[in-house]
Amino acid sequence: MKLLVFLSLFAVCVFARKTFHGDQVLRLHPITEGQLNTLQNLEKQYELDFWTPVRGIGIPVDIRVPSGRLASFKAYLSTTGIHYAVFIDDVQNYINAERTEHPTPKALADFNYHVYHHFDEIQQWISDMAAAHPKLLTNSTVGTSYEGLKFSALTVTTKKGNPQFVINCGIHAREWISPATCMFSVKQLVTEYGTDPTITGLLDKVDFVFIPSSNPDGYQYTWSDDRMWRKTRTPSSARCTGVDPNRNWDANFGGPGASDMPCSDTYYGPYAFSEPCTLAQKKFVEGLPNPKMYIDVHSYSQLWMFPYGYKLDRPSNFDTLDKIANDSVAAIKVTHGKTYQSGQISTTIYVASGSTADYFYDNVTPCSFAAELRDEGQYGFLLPESEIQPTAEESLAAFQVMAQAIIDHKCDSY
Ligand SMILES: [Zn+2]
Repeated sequence: MKLLVFLSLFAVCVFARKTFHGDQVLRLHPITEGQLNTLQNLEKQYELDFWTPVRGIGIPVDIRVPSGRLASFKAYLSTTGIHYAVFIDDVQNYINAERTEHPTPKALADFNYHVYHHFDEIQQWISDMAAAHPKLLTNSTVGTSYEGLKFSALTVTTKKGNPQFVINCGIHAREWISPATCMFSVKQLVTEYGTDPTITGLLDKVDFVFIPSSNPDGYQYTWSDDRMWRKTRTPSSARCTGVDPNRNWDANFGGPGASDMPCSDTYYGPYAFSEPCTLAQKKFVEGLPNPKMYIDVHSYSQLWMFPYGYKLDRPSNFDTLDKIANDSVAAIKVTHGKTYQSGQISTTIYVASGSTADYFYDNVTPCSFAAELRDEGQYGFLLPESEIQPTAEESLAAFQVMAQAIIDHKCDSY
């Protein structure tokens, strides 16, 4: 009897996690207006998992197609004339190869920055780091998620009265490189303070406020149930769960580039700040003494962007933001040779309403950004752990450029 109970529990555990055997990620190349419309309509049906949005003619679109629908979808594509290439031939193989099993770190000294960590490990790391570096690090609670998970910020600070640079990671659950980059960056700053003259100079004048995992329910769910989950985990309709936490902000809420369909991956939610994790982050950042710079860190596509997202109009300080973004991608390029593209969100990637970057731009600071880290689609969201360090290093190079812009008074007025 005991064995039966054990076996059935085992079965529940094994079968709870969604698998993606035989699923493929196809890269589609729309080259005519008609093909673009076809893809836009497909995107609105929210039946396939779009890894990158439909952006325009000549710009590729990555779509994950379940194994059972591959044959019919490919046949359909041939009727539209849209060319495609198989970018990932078996998603489950990539998931299996993405990370290595590692023991839960018993102490801070055991913490491995070269692997992905689940939410509990991240939270434990935040409190361990703050305890180990009381002169440099402050641990603050940002808020509590819908499922009751407390999530925190870790601030690198050397002096009272400095302005704050907020770096938000993990708002989209499946973008694992983002939290890993936040954590690696904290470690680097703490290690290099007092040694590296540039980092020391910046930290003497700017607080770096990291929120390593700002969508705890979604992130945890990508570990326990569905690696490809993007949204929060609040019930959104009888059939579907979750709100896109980067469409849920009061910045042209419900406008273009966000969906009113609860099953969509870009569902904006019943009202602005309906999600406990977005409301908590808003209050936390607005409660900081002097927030001067904000960046929301996503993956993938290698982009460094600024407002507006919800409209094509340029922000009043376009030239300043454009210069900071250009300097950031130049610093990235120098670090490991990777090319990132810079530009305004709405003209670089797509029009999207209700995003963090626009909200903080309109309400908090003239310096607000959104980044998409590695890669360009070879692994997509399933970036191997070996790329954590280089991705974090190039990102930190860009963060340093942005912090310098605060010091240079680029963020004092619109
Ligand atoms: Zn994202």
